[in-house]
Amino acid sequence: MIPEALRGVRAVVRENVPLSGKTTLRVGGPARFFAELHDAAALAALLRAARAQGLPILALGKGSNLLVPDAGFPGVVFTLAGDFLATRIEAPEVVAGGGVSLMSLAVATQRAGLSGLENLSGIPSSLGGAVRINAGSYGSELFDVLVSADLVSAAGERRTVPAAAISHGYRWTALSDTDDVVTGARIRLVPKAPGEIAARIAEVAAKRKGTLPKQPNAGSIFKNPPGLFAGKLLEECGLKGRRVGGAEISPVHANVIVNLGGATAADVRRLMEEMKRAVKDRFEIELQAEIQIVGEEKTENLS
Ligand SMILES: Cc1cc2nc3c(=O)[nH]c(=O)nc-3n(C[C@H](O)[C@H](O)[C@H](O)COP(=O)(O)OP(=O)(O)OC[C@H]3O[C@@H](n4cnc5c(N)ncnc54)[C@H](O)[C@@H]3O)c2cc1C
Repeated sequence: MIPEALRGVRAVVRENVPLSGKTTLRVGGPARFFAELHDAAALAALLRAARAQGLPILALGKGSNLLVPDAGFPGVVFTLAGDFLATRIEAPEVVAGGGVSLMSLAVATQRAGLSGLENLSGIPSSLGGAVRINAGSYGSELFDVLVSADLVSAAGERRTVPAAAISHGYRWTALSDTDDVVTGARIRLVPKAPGEIAARIAEVAAKRKGTLPKQPNAGSIFKNPPGLFAGKLLEECGLKGRRVGGAEISPVHANVIVNLGGATAADVRRLMEEMKRAVKDRFEIELQAEIQIVGEEKTENLS
């Protein structure tokens, strides 16, 4: 069993842990096992044990891009803590663990007078989650600054891969199709006055506050089709405010589903199906899911 396998390593393991409180959308059932891993040895032990016991694994970052089924997750969900939260400035480069939040990384680099993360600072992501999907906003994306990623495969093999060797595009990287865990990353920034960087971080925070709903959500549900905005297409379908159970297509942003309280994953799925169907019927465009639906293909795109 997982708790026994992790005895003696730096990890905290619990059974039947509700995942709803660990995702920004606040829906989803329990993880059979939930482990907080504090170092590379703990991660290696967990991957070994899960493999030996035939249990599926799921890396959890900040839970800001996840739809967890109501039935929960039948395997091991793990989160990177301890050593994986370290940040080391080697100006103009920065080395940080996969569990570090983008906001804290942006603040640490701002203090060091290093610019490049300002536009990404408002994304409520871990560094690992952001590398995996090539998170982006306001014309910047993580791969603009990524030098290399530290990866551990599900078989426990560790490697550092240059960013140039990882295929990537809009809200996608080759890592999205694997179980590789992003344990850390090296990024390269540009020297700039800390005051100027701080001003841009504040500007980004203010802009985001004005455009995103306040209720629990998982950000954009669908990716933007090339040259178009999914939110605009959905708005033109008249979907703002449409509700299923406790889930609602936000009246503020048509590509965001909010949890009004008590929403289930099934409610969210039904809304997603309606959104997808409406855009297909009206514009002949197949929307692709941006949120990761747990338990489905890695690059699951609701069909
Ligand atoms: C209010 C709001 C605004 C948002 N705005 C934006 C935006 O502007 N731009 C944007 O790109 N996204 C945005 N998002 C979506 C989300 O923040 C990003 O997709 C983010 O990168 C997800 O990271 P996470 O750490 O929360 O990952 P999680 O949601 O925890 O996980 C998402 C996926 O990544 C995997 N994963 C997590 N950590 C790791 C790791 N260390 N190694 C390997 N795989 C991992 C998980 O297994 C899962 O498959 C927004 C979300 C919210 C709620």
